[in-house]
Amino acid sequence: MSVESAYPMLPVADALAIVLEQAQPLPARLTPLPEVVGLVLAETVRAPEPLPPFPASTKDGYAVLAAAGPGDYTVIGDATAGRMADFTVAAGTVAYITTGAPLPAGADAVVMVEETELLPTRNGTRRVRVHQQVRAGADIRPVGSDIQQGETVLDAGAHLGAAEIGLLATVGAAQVQVYPRPRVAILSTGDELVDPDQPIGPGQIRDSNRFMLQAAVLAAGGVPLDLGIAADTPSVLPEKVERGLHEADVLLTSGGVSMGELDLIKPLLERRGQVHIGRIRMKPGKPLTFATVLIDGQPKLVFGLPGNPVSSLVTYYLFVVPALRKLAGWPDPHLPRVQAHLAQPLPMDGYRPEYHRATLVWDDSLNSGNGGYLATSTGSQSSSRLLSMRTANALLELPQAEGVLPVGAVVSALVIGELH
Ligand code: AMP
Ligand code: MG
Repeated sequence: MSVESAYPMLPVADALAIVLEQAQPLPARLTPLPEVVGLVLAETVRAPEPLPPFPASTKDGYAVLAAAGPGDYTVIGDATAGRMADFTVAAGTVAYITTGAPLPAGADAVVMVEETELLPTRNGTRRVRVHQQVRAGADIRPVGSDIQQGETVLDAGAHLGAAEIGLLATVGAAQVQVYPRPRVAILSTGDELVDPDQPIGPGQIRDSNRFMLQAAVLAAGGVPLDLGIAADTPSVLPEKVERGLHEADVLLTSGGVSMGELDLIKPLLERRGQVHIGRIRMKPGKPLTFATVLIDGQPKLVFGLPGNPVSSLVTYYLFVVPALRKLAGWPDPHLPRVQAHLAQPLPMDGYRPEYHRATLVWDDSLNSGNGGYLATSTGSQSSSRLLSMRTANALLELPQAEGVLPVGAVVSALVIGELH
């Protein structure tokens, strides 16, 4: 009996293109402002009114007629933020004004308080001395000077962070159409696995992948759903897989996709839907499996991640993160790439491109003093050694080749964590 895989070994770029073709944005939903942080806008948002909606003072000071110039004036009232003044600034008078207050009728400029001096009241009348000559319009924000009426403040596809949410609030968009967070079901497979709170019996190890992937899904903006551990028994697995398919947009399994006799994931997915990818030319992560299953007319994405924790997490970053971004409406779902200088020589692999885990740190001395990222390897790159992912914020894209890349060689790096 042959044990050759029936699946062609696809280049990473081709495999990613297949995944991204299947991953289409989830239907947008009208969502209240406090819940949209981190999501992508699915509509164009315009300003229904100008901002400011009235000529507003940018200083605390006195609203004046600019042409009147320096001199002593009667203060006819206070123009404060939040209300329209009920008086007019006429010749010989000025009005006290606060930052953000509407300019009273008759005035055409503001003199800041530092350029004035309060005089003693005369017959109960407040008086002020103005020292500065200002131009008409000084220290006034004209109507619409920040945002014009009808102006587009956010385009569809915008990532909603603090500034964008501030803009939505300011134009009164209390609910907006956004792409929802993808729901991601996570299932570990393997007879050897026990939960972290359990002692390990003979032949057992603790399940790291489930908790690791839950954290990774949260970090990618998804909503994880825990399906627990499925033993390598044909009777248990399908039931858990069905639950994941029905309750989530994406199902992640780990383990059971290699060439062993108890590797049940590929045959199950072949029966249940369409397997698009069964092997990828990459190190680590070769057995990554990708399938779609139609549930009530909706295509659900299934990633059969390899069992080795490093392979699991590397393939998660390379394929699942872009897929989740696509579902969540990101216009560009790819991981960002930067260039990095090797801090030590790194061997390449003659059969597969390697995704070498490294920590990138900005180094001012690189690139003839212009600065650049220095990539320090996380050490032994064994696919079972999760310590090789600890502190890694990048995957160095080492080409498939014989030989060793020297110290200082510049390689491209996919960013998977915070850059420091
Ligand atoms: P498999 O793909 O099921 O043959 O698993 C490959 C390797 O990964 C084996 O050494 C498994 O014990 C290990 N492994 C599988 N699943 C997990 C998991 N959830 N946590 C930690 N190690 C795992
Ligand atoms: Mg297994």
